[in-house]
Amino acid sequence: MSQGGRLQELRSQLDSVNNELLGLLSERARIAQEIGQEKQKQGVPDFDPVREKKMLDALIEQNKGPFDNETVRHLFKQIFQASLKLQQVDTKKQLLVSRKKKQEDTLIKLGDTIVGGGKPVMIAGPCSVESYEQVRQVAAALKEAGITVMRGGAFKPRTSPYDFQGLGVEGLKILKEVASEFGLKTISEIVDPAHIELACEYIDVIQIGARNMQNFELLKAAGDVNTPILLKRGLAATIDEFVHAAEYIVSRGNTQVMLIERGIRTYEKATRNTLDISAVPILKQETHLPVLVDVTHSTGRKDILAPCARAALAAGADGVMVEVHPDPATALSDAAQQLNIPEFQDFLANVKKSGLL
Ligand code: PEP
Ligand code: MN
Repeated sequence: MSQGGRLQELRSQLDSVNNELLGLLSERARIAQEIGQEKQKQGVPDFDPVREKKMLDALIEQNKGPFDNETVRHLFKQIFQASLKLQQVDTKKQLLVSRKKKQEDTLIKLGDTIVGGGKPVMIAGPCSVESYEQVRQVAAALKEAGITVMRGGAFKPRTSPYDFQGLGVEGLKILKEVASEFGLKTISEIVDPAHIELACEYIDVIQIGARNMQNFELLKAAGDVNTPILLKRGLAATIDEFVHAAEYIVSRGNTQVMLIERGIRTYEKATRNTLDISAVPILKQETHLPVLVDVTHSTGRKDILAPCARAALAAGADGVMVEVHPDPATALSDAAQQLNIPEFQDFLANVKKSGLL
């Protein structure tokens, strides 16, 4: 046989071995996928380092060359990793909060207000509940403006332990009393898993704040009640981490979860945080949960609240949250960024003019 003929023959042998290898790898991948599904049913983690080590050791024992053991180990590790990735994609598809799992939008009913039903909501109220009179003044203004859901922090997770920490349960009681007088629904942050059940007696929506987005015990406790949850995106959380935090709640049985983008940390100093508008359509696409935008904490600037709220709604947000205080200069938290009542009325009129609210 000529030299060229021999080369041709070897190449065609290689091509058929390649095809066989591909067939075997695909077969292996199918089995690995099935193992992944089985593991998920049993609640066992995808990656099992002990099993991986056993498989590699067995292969090394069988190795007769010409590849050295290190090369065999390296090659098979790549194969194992590719299979693991397949299993993980499968798990992602199966997240309870994902659109792939449930096509229809989740609707959250707060009295006559439906969050996620196509008509965006405006949620407003003070950063902190400071007194009965303060909350009452805001509630009266909200009622007059046609707002149905009021926010107000009773447990405040502050950067400094020396800053106002909130009125605690006393604050929840104030919210309940004022809300029932004006027929409003309420949202307030809870920071301790032990307070979740208690909170359900006083408020209509439990907020889990940015600093607690990955407080898994708090998420689990929130998943064990039936009260709707407003989950804020963490200060430096990726969208994937945010979605998984929501999954913690939903996987425990509480399907009433709303997501809220509140700005993330970047190098930009012009705003308090950077409002990640792109998170809105991504979360709407990837999950079936309502998505809101907190324009106050994301920007920290009163002068750009209205355009940011309009941008949020234009991007598909189901609602906007904003902080309102009767006298922001004396506020015990976030004094610089809260709107006073006339400013809130202007803000609302401005957003409404866009036709998006
Ligand atoms: C708040 O909404 O009161 C608050 C503390 O916001 P965040 O958790 O987003 O900082
Ligand atoms: Mn605040």
